[in-house]
Amino acid sequence: MAQLSDDCFAFGGALLSVEAAAALIAERVPPLPGQERVPLVQARGRVLAEDLRAPHPLPPFFNSAVDGYAFRHADLPPQGEMRLTLAGRLAAGQAAGAVLAPGTACRILTGAPMPPGADTVMMQEDVRLEGAVLHLPAGLKPGANCRPAGEDVAQGVLALAAGTRLNPAHVGLAAALGQPALMVRPRPRIGVFSTGDELAPPGGTLGPAQTFDSNRFSLLALLAGLPVEPVDLGILPDRAEATAAALREAAAAHDMLLTSGGVSAGEEDHVRGAIEKLGRLVFWRLALKPGRPAAMGILGGTPVLGLPGNPVAAIVTFLHLARPLALRLCGAAPEPLPRFVAEAAFTHRKKAGRREYVRVRLTPGAALPLAQKDAREGAGLLSSLTGSDAFAELPEDCTVIGPGERVTVLPFAAIF
Ligand code: AMP
Ligand code: MG
Repeated sequence: MAQLSDDCFAFGGALLSVEAAAALIAERVPPLPGQERVPLVQARGRVLAEDLRAPHPLPPFFNSAVDGYAFRHADLPPQGEMRLTLAGRLAAGQAAGAVLAPGTACRILTGAPMPPGADTVMMQEDVRLEGAVLHLPAGLKPGANCRPAGEDVAQGVLALAAGTRLNPAHVGLAAALGQPALMVRPRPRIGVFSTGDELAPPGGTLGPAQTFDSNRFSLLALLAGLPVEPVDLGILPDRAEATAAALREAAAAHDMLLTSGGVSAGEEDHVRGAIEKLGRLVFWRLALKPGRPAAMGILGGTPVLGLPGNPVAAIVTFLHLARPLALRLCGAAPEPLPRFVAEAAFTHRKKAGRREYVRVRLTPGAALPLAQKDAREGAGLLSSLTGSDAFAELPEDCTVIGPGERVTVLPFAAIF
């Protein structure tokens, strides 16, 4: 289990800014200990546990970047055509062999080692071959069309840093440096509960006053994009003792817990009470819309996030709390949510002092992409998310945004 300090570090009763919540998570949650070795084909998405320094240069040897003719640049006249005698041929995979004699050129194919003495390659398209005599135009720069050893990565330099969440390019670079496997961080086990007497699991039949549980599945799906082991822990009833007992048991068996619902101030909201009874409340209530009633606590060293019940709020708070917390447990370097600038094609008024996310659809614009706000804003409207492309982020100090203004957007394609 993650060992968290148990002191209450930010509970003043007031709304906590998203930034302050993220800072608390980064400060107080240590990465899980341990590491494991995984073959490269399983490394995508995992977090590198130790620095990888290049054990040899990449490329490993001086080689040709094109199909052509290798020669000594000093043989080229400053002006006019040059003639060289063709001597030898090197294809990819063939050892370089003998030194290239002055006044000669060697036929060379892409990836083949440069013959000793040669320093430049003329592309085959640029030469004329008459029998064994090559006619080369003047003017080629020394070193053209070839790749020095270590041009990509010099021997001994840091190629991949510990904490990197490995993408396909990282995996490719590890392979190019001869690594069949990599040491990666363990995947935290993250248990996910829904809470609410009104919830029925999809697949069952709805009783009167029931609705299908969607948060558990959107949260498990969000976790599936992270290097963690998501665990489905089902639905908790709206009862204080049952909530506390389930959280106590689950905290002992997982590295992190996520709940949704039951974290507001109603008399059937039992998550915060259970956290306070069993451990420590770190914060409750964020200056965020949607997503105000979110809580973080620590139960016996295990971080617990109580996310709001409304489905859009659960997703927004996942992105701002659960994602950085999970990545922190994974030992990953901090990864801000991907954002870019768009042009607002809407008007929106908001309260100062809280950050707001509105759902927008993006279309190409003259200079910047245009962000058009979805007409429906409710924190429970999942179809307004499926019908949008991005969240527009309206900062704490903003009170109104209008058409033509620049707005930061978080594209779903990059954050989901
Ligand atoms: P709560 O914070 O528990 O009062 O929940 C706020 C709203 O979100 C209520 O309308 C709940 O029915 C709804 N809700 C809570 N949990 C879920 C869930 N897992 N799936 C779908 N809706 C939920
Ligand atoms: Mg509820």
